[in-house]
Amino acid sequence: MKKVVKFGGSSLASAEQFKKIGEIIHADADRKYVVPSAPGKRFGNDTKVTDMLYQTYALAEQGKNFKELLEKIKDRYNEIIEGLGLELSLDNEFVIIEEQFKAKAGGDYAASRGEYLNGIIMANYLGYEFIDSATVIFFDKNGNFDANTTDEILSAKLAEVERAVVPGFYGALSDGTVKTFSRGGSDVTGSIVAKAARADIYENWTDVSGFLVADPRIIDNPETITTITYKELRELAYMGATVLHEEAIFPVRKSGIPINIKNTNRPEDPGTMIVESTCKQSKFTITGIAGKKGFVSINIEKDMMNSEIGFGRKVLEAFESHGVPFEHVPSGIDTMTVYVHQPEFEGKEQQVLSDIHRLTSPDHIEIESNLALIAVVGRSMKAAKGTAARIFSALAHANINVKMIDQGSSELNIIIGVKNSDFENAIKAIYEIFVLVQL
Ligand code: ASP
Repeated sequence: MKKVVKFGGSSLASAEQFKKIGEIIHADADRKYVVPSAPGKRFGNDTKVTDMLYQTYALAEQGKNFKELLEKIKDRYNEIIEGLGLELSLDNEFVIIEEQFKAKAGGDYAASRGEYLNGIIMANYLGYEFIDSATVIFFDKNGNFDANTTDEILSAKLAEVERAVVPGFYGALSDGTVKTFSRGGSDVTGSIVAKAARADIYENWTDVSGFLVADPRIIDNPETITTITYKELRELAYMGATVLHEEAIFPVRKSGIPINIKNTNRPEDPGTMIVESTCKQSKFTITGIAGKKGFVSINIEKDMMNSEIGFGRKVLEAFESHGVPFEHVPSGIDTMTVYVHQPEFEGKEQQVLSDIHRLTSPDHIEIESNLALIAVVGRSMKAAKGTAARIFSALAHANINVKMIDQGSSELNIIIGVKNSDFENAIKAIYEIFVLVQL
């Protein structure tokens, strides 16, 4: 059995956290490859090392004095090294980093040092080999991740090394220039390493015990999702329920490797398993609820619309030509409604409306803002009867007006539009009917 374990910044923010992860790794001999993030926040208003590096590099780029800030970063690492009682000095590394900053080696190089240095400490602490990600993870000349080259070189390397630390977040172009993934990208590295190592599981250790059925800012102590499919996850993540970087699922999903989200501070919790498919029914009819505020609906009316071929295309063209993506398009016989994100639409509103008028000559257009969308997601909904009825009677009892309903044809989700001001109460009502009454 082979496991790849990735630890997020909060799991590596201090020596105390490092000790926890040391215990976790030593508790299971299968945890062979470790992917660390950079040290994250130790307390609420602390600064992540990655952010400190970006700030320091910005000073270097402007030709300003950056030494003081760089010293602060060094202090953070030294605190960890001392706290762990390691015989390790990063002095030489910091000399090189300072030179590279002066030579304006780039923001990506700067940010990547967070993971790089943390990887050196971790390898030293665990007694594992250190593999610099710039030598095994590659990007093409357009800056896109090069999956083929990486898989070939990384898997060959891992085949030679029994246990190793591979820092997250960065790799290199073919000329050696360091390049990072987007923020939170160590999740992606973990997934790439799991694929290349042909791992049985990718454990992603963070500071929560997995995905929650609903947002804990709205529901007190929500239940944890024990098993979720990639498709369900995608639906919930789209609505903002994020624990994992969006791109992290692709490498492992393709190779059928499950992801287990685990909590460094509560390793005994089973966390959430993310799988391609499962015969396990979820504990409740729904797997999760997520939602977002800040949508606008543009409702277009025209007599005999349904017999006018091309009407929908023209309406959507008006949005497309101004670069406004649409989210949902529920329609009636002589009406068509387009849901868009308010911030993406606001600045272009009048141009889009005038294009709709010009292209389709509607009878009437009505705009409603401050709307929220809620996705009720669950693979078990397909077989269950009365799911929609339960949702809508719960909302009716809570005195909430439903503005829009959209059930995807996969029956994996039902999307409901309500007013922003009803958003929290709607989620509470749905949580209650599906989860609380079943507990
Ligand atoms: N350290 C990087 C960031 O803060 C990458 C990561 O933690 O995944 O975005």
